[in-house]
Amino acid sequence: MNLIELTAGELVALQEQKKASALEIADAFIAASAAREPKLRSFTLPPDADAVRAAARAVDAKRAKGEALGKLAGVPVAIKDVLCTKGVRTTCSSKMLANFVPPYSAHAVERLIAQDAIPFGKTNMDEFAMGSSTENSAFQQTRNPWDVTRIPGGSSGGSAACVAGCQAPVSLGTDTGGSIRQPAALCGLVGLKPTYGRVSRYGLIAFASSLDQIGPFAHDVRDSALGMVSIAGHDGRDSTSVNEPVPAYTKALDTPIAGLRIGVPKEFFGQGLDPEVEATVRAALKEYEKQGAKLVDVSLPHSPYALAAYYIVAPAEASSNLARFDGMHYGHRTAEKTDLIATYAKSRAEGFGKEVQRRIIIGTYVLSSGYKDAYYVKALKVRRLVKKDFDDAFTKCDVVMGPTTPTAAFKAGEKSDDPLAMYLSDVYTVSCNLAGIPGLSINCGFTKTGLPIGLQLLGAPFAEETLFRAARMYERATDWHTKRPAV
Ligand code: GLN
Repeated sequence: MNLIELTAGELVALQEQKKASALEIADAFIAASAAREPKLRSFTLPPDADAVRAAARAVDAKRAKGEALGKLAGVPVAIKDVLCTKGVRTTCSSKMLANFVPPYSAHAVERLIAQDAIPFGKTNMDEFAMGSSTENSAFQQTRNPWDVTRIPGGSSGGSAACVAGCQAPVSLGTDTGGSIRQPAALCGLVGLKPTYGRVSRYGLIAFASSLDQIGPFAHDVRDSALGMVSIAGHDGRDSTSVNEPVPAYTKALDTPIAGLRIGVPKEFFGQGLDPEVEATVRAALKEYEKQGAKLVDVSLPHSPYALAAYYIVAPAEASSNLARFDGMHYGHRTAEKTDLIATYAKSRAEGFGKEVQRRIIIGTYVLSSGYKDAYYVKALKVRRLVKKDFDDAFTKCDVVMGPTTPTAAFKAGEKSDDPLAMYLSDVYTVSCNLAGIPGLSINCGFTKTGLPIGLQLLGAPFAEETLFRAARMYERATDWHTKRPAV
C-alpha cells in the first residue's frame, strides 16, 4: 500500500482501522513532497516538517484518548498561497507580498483545522491569481505531473500539481474565472468552484471580489465533497457569505439521480475545441446516456460574449482591490528615497509583475470617466444576460455539461507571450463565475499522448449536491480517477 496514492477518505479510514497513524501518513507525504518538488515546483512554501509532524502527533494523541475527531483528521491539505495562514508567510506568488506574514487565517483554513486536517505548505500560483498556466508566478514555474514539459494550468497550478503528483492528498484553490476547474482538468483531478457565497472569502486576498470562490482539489468526488463539507458555511466576516444550511454532501453520493437531464450547450462545442477533447467529452456523455440520463439541447446564447465581459469585470475589480498595495498601506516598498507619489509608483512597478500591471491598467481604463459606460457598465449587462441564459437552461435540465478546457495541457512557454491566447483557455469556465453558479470538473479520459481531459458539470445556484451525485455516477462506471502519473 502506497500511502501517498490514497484518497483523503481512504486515509481517514486507515486511521480509524488503526492500520496507519496520522504521523505515518504525514511522514509519507513529507518525504514525497520533498522528493518530487525539484520536478514539480508546486510549493512557494514547502510543508514545515516539524509543524506537520507536531499536528499529526496531536491527532494521534486525540485518537488514543478516544476524543472525537474531525472529518479530515490527519489528512494533509496544501493551501494556495492566496489564502491567509496565521503566522505563515502568504505571498500570492508576488514580490509585492514576498514577506507578508498574516496575523490571522482565512475562514476556509480555520475550518480545515477545526476538522483536524493538517495544513501542508503553501502552493504556487499565478501572481494574484491572474493567469491560466502558473507561469505568472514571481518565484517559480510549476509543472504538470503528467508531463513535466507542460503547464499544470492556473492560477491554482501548485494546488493541482501537488495533488496530481501525490505530494498531498487534497488542496485548496480559488476560482475567479476557472482557476480551480481548469488546472483540475489539465491535471486529471476533481475540482469544484462552489456557488458564490457558499464558502466565506474571509482571508482570501481579493482578485475580483464578485467572482472569487474557494474550493477543493481532490482525486475523487468523495474527497471533493469531504472538502466542501469542511469549508462551506456561513461566516459573518464576509458580507456575501450565505446563511443557508450546508447539505451533508458525502451522504447521498452513491445514489444516482434518476432521470438525470443533461443540458448540452452547442456553444461549448464550437470553433477552437480540440477534436480529441471533443470526442472524449462526447464519449463521457454517451456513458451517461447508457446509465439512463437524457441529453437535451440547450443554448447559452450569450456565452460567446462571456470571455470579453469577464476580462472587463475581473480587471476592473482587480484594479480597485490592488490599489491598497502601494508600499505605504500594504506591500513591498521601494528602497529608493523619494517623494510620496513616486514611492507609490516605484513600489508598484517593482512589486507587481507584467500580467498584474496589465490587468490594473485595463481595469483602470474601463472604469475611467468617459469609458465606464461603454465598457464596465456594458460588461455588467452582458453578465446579467449570461446569468439569465443559465436560468433558462436549468428549466430544461438538471446539469449542464461540456468540456472544461478547449485543449489538454499546453507546453510551458507556448502561450506566455500571448495574453489573448492565454485568456482563450478560460472560454468555457468564466460564464460560471459571471453567473455565480457552481461548477465541477472531473477527469473523463486521456489524450493519445497521456494528458488528462476534463468534463465540466455546471449546476443551478447551491446545487453542489446534484453536481457531486451526477459526477459520482460517471466515476463509478470508470476508473480514470484511480490513475496516478509516474513522477
Ligand atoms: N485564468 C483566469 C484569469 O486569468 C482565471 C483566473 C482565476 O480564476 N483566478 O483571470
